[in-house]
Amino acid sequence: MLESAQALITKTAEKMKLDEEMIKRLIEPEFAHEFALTITMDNGKKKVFKGWRIQHNSALGPYKGGIRFHPETVREEVQALATLMSIKCAVAGLPYGGSKGGIIVDPKKLSVGELERLSRAFAARIAHVIGENIDVPAPDVNTNPQIMAWMLDEYQKIKGYKSPATFTGKPIAIGGSLGRTEATGRGGLFVLEALLIKLKGSIPKFFDGKQKTAKNLISSPFSNLTIAVQGFGNVGYYFAKLSHESGFKIVAVSDSKGGVYVKDGLSPEITLNCKKEKGTVAGCYCRGSVCDLKYGRPISNEELLELPVDILVPAALENVINDQNMKKIKAKIILELANGPITEEAYKYLSKKDVVIVPDVLANSGGVTVSYLEWVQGKAGYYWSEKEVNDKLKIIIERAFETIWKKSVEKKIPLKQAAFEVAIERITSAMV
Ligand code: NAD
Repeated sequence: MLESAQALITKTAEKMKLDEEMIKRLIEPEFAHEFALTITMDNGKKKVFKGWRIQHNSALGPYKGGIRFHPETVREEVQALATLMSIKCAVAGLPYGGSKGGIIVDPKKLSVGELERLSRAFAARIAHVIGENIDVPAPDVNTNPQIMAWMLDEYQKIKGYKSPATFTGKPIAIGGSLGRTEATGRGGLFVLEALLIKLKGSIPKFFDGKQKTAKNLISSPFSNLTIAVQGFGNVGYYFAKLSHESGFKIVAVSDSKGGVYVKDGLSPEITLNCKKEKGTVAGCYCRGSVCDLKYGRPISNEELLELPVDILVPAALENVINDQNMKKIKAKIILELANGPITEEAYKYLSKKDVVIVPDVLANSGGVTVSYLEWVQGKAGYYWSEKEVNDKLKIIIERAFETIWKKSVEKKIPLKQAAFEVAIERITSAMV
């Protein structure tokens, strides 16, 4: 993962004719904090956990990035994610650099008390290298608003003053932002709509191969367009719900236990209620306000990716579209809501086939964008309504999309390359 992130940056920077030293500055993290944390477990014994906070680049502003708790986290992964945060924040046009934190731990094996002690120990250890104008952590895999609340509390105790803008993804009661929960799915929808509007208009040369399909594909309203969503967690669910409300037809969704195909379009909210009862979306064939076996059929996660839909939205795991299934992908647009769902090889293959791939650094940047809005609110001590937050998110996302689209059209390069070029231009122009 680290190698491919660095290779992508190097390749883009070389194409932009940046010199070797500048490329090194883009690749190497500015700081890499590595530490061992010791907490007392419920049985009275001490246990040691390894963790990192890696601060990649701060040319554009304070570092920004989540903290993950995962048994298989390694330093290289944390560094790669920190690097991609620098790119993502620059793509979205946010005044941030990139960072990431991680602890090797399976939080499901900890009691609530142990989880709180570990979260507080982590916050105490990084307290001297974070701050609202230094580095702003947020939740990531297996961390959540409650964990941010413990970390912020510990940080503020150490510092002796309130600083809500030092962490984002907090509970609303202590300065979290309205709209943060839905932000990544909502941002994904804004990007998709902006793309479809472009495709509906003049189709640029880069998209020549798609001219036929794109013209057939794009109709207004978007209700004729079918979407399959892999993953029905925070990102997948809200994307499905909001797209459904916008008139798209969601024909398939899945989670780790399996999926459903509902040819005439499913109802995400009712599917979520059914999932809550059953523990999975598998078996939930819900249309309108009713779930009934006659509406659909079961589908595996592999089949979902290969459905003949207009738009495929991987919103669960990385590397799910790879050399094993790339030739079976039939969607004409892939919106990368998960981080890194398409391998390098599959990406090259699908790009040659003129599949439009909206890269993760743009497609899922709605999350960090509302984190930014939470930070702004925390710094100002002035809080916006959900509508105000959503309106600001739309403006930022559409602006980011427009810049990347323009670059893609002007240079006849895929959106991913355009996104990396825009990000690298922004970062290097701020490097003094
Ligand atoms: P989540 O834990 O809320 O949901 C993950 C979903 O994926 C669940 O429905 C789970 O059942 C499903 N899943 C797990 N294994 C699967 C498998 N083998 N096949 C199919 N589905 C499987 O996580 P999330 O917050 O929705 O994040 C999803 C992706 O989006 C991740 O790649 C994450 O890094 C990325 N992302 C999330 C945010 C955010 O704000 N939450 C922001 C940017 C990127």
